Amino acid sequence: MDCRRCDAVCCRLSVTVMPDDNVPGYLLDTDENGRTVMARNDEGWCAAIDPYHLRCTIYTQRPAICRQFDMGGDDCRLVRQDYRRQQHDLSTIFSTIHP
Ligand code: SF4
Repeated sequence: MDCRRCDAVCCRLSVTVMPDDNVPGYLLDTDENGRTVMARNDEGWCAAIDPYHLRCTIYTQRPAICRQFDMGGDDCRLVRQDYRRQQHDLSTIFSTIHP
């Protein structure tokens, strides 16, 4: 498992922001259950991500849930698998439309 070869797909997961977190307000959103979460950009990544380098722009201020994420753990592997599958499906669709 190597984060350098990953598109930071863990930053596409829903991130609940806790009251003790110190995240700038413009990066926050409210989900359908009324929880405070990290907002997302149009492509589905957390709004705090630098889309060119896929790095967290608030790394020292990132929410506790991000600090606790288990790199290489079950959630990491699952989200990477799902992302790879989505990318594969998209390229299949694209090659069908533009053979
Ligand atoms: S706050 Fe940073 S580490 Fe957490 S999901 Fe957003 S970009 Fe990723």
